[in-house]
Amino acid sequence: AKSRGRSGLCFYNRQLNAAAVERLRLEAALRRALERGEIDVHFQPKVDREGRPLSFEALVRWHSPEFGAISPAVFIPIAEDTGQIEPITEFVLARACRLACAWPRELAVAVNLSPRLFHSGGLCRRVERALALSGLAPHRLELELTEGILMEKNMRAVEQLQALKALGVRLAVDDFGTGYSSLAYLRRFPLDILKVDKSFVGNCRPDASDAILVRAISSLGRELGLTVVAEGVETQAQWDFLRQAGCDEFQGYLFARPLPAEQTHAWLARFPDS
Ligand code: C2E
Ligand code: CA
Ligand code: CA
Ligand code: CA
Repeated sequence: AKSRGRSGLCFYNRQLNAAAVERLRLEAALRRALERGEIDVHFQPKVDREGRPLSFEALVRWHSPEFGAISPAVFIPIAEDTGQIEPITEFVLARACRLACAWPRELAVAVNLSPRLFHSGGLCRRVERALALSGLAPHRLELELTEGILMEKNMRAVEQLQALKALGVRLAVDDFGTGYSSLAYLRRFPLDILKVDKSFVGNCRPDASDAILVRAISSLGRELGLTVVAEGVETQAQWDFLRQAGCDEFQGYLFARPLPAEQTHAWLARFPDS
């Protein structure tokens, strides 16, 4: 029994080591990913109640020759720890603004901002520069923030959000309903858009508890004058329910997967009259 215990411990250590080594290799690869052209941006449309395009969300992609395709859910947290999040965000912002200028209509583009960016300073300047370099009108840029940033005691977050807002961009709360929501902050911050987290969208039977939450969130959003967006819409039944629940905009595989930049034009061409 003793020796089995020892080998068990040994196995555990080996696994821990393997995980740590893997993480270090990923960190090293991510440090070089931008300059090696391995980082790309895909774009997923958001549509109105009739299914017509309104905007696209920029979603970063990393394809490493060594590791293959790595989910942003994996590498964004690493980028936050290693300081890569600033240059990656700058890259995504630049690509998003430039592409938006090339779309045939005045569609908006949304970029995700990691909470970490609010601690490092210079965020507002970076956004301002991306707008100036591309010539994109500020009202066509949406910035998606997670609830966490709104919960911070830190008054600098409030000031930075007000400064961003003063540029003329629109601010969205992403993954709404998953954080420690004090609803009070919805009034305290200069927000425009509320994105209901996709975990609430899965079960759309009208009597299910998720459905009750979606209805409550969307009427709250409407009362506060916010645009309510439902993400993760995969089926017609979900879309029907979400429309009935009062959501304004919709995003999900039902309409399109995140597309490479070049394919956004072809997708838009399906809607010649809108
Ligand atoms: P998110 O901002 O909540 O983005 C939505 C995620 O849901 C995306 O995953 C998208 O591909 C996926 N999705 C879209 N439609 C559907 C659907 O119908 N069903 C399901 N099941 N999923 C759908 P993705 O691209 O893997 O991104 C994951 C997360 O990584 C994002 O979640 C966001 O938090 C983060 N992220 C992505 N790009 C960036 C970025 O440029 N900067 C930062 N800071 N974070 C990013
Ligand atoms: Ca988002
Ligand atoms: Ca989300
Ligand atoms: Ca999310």
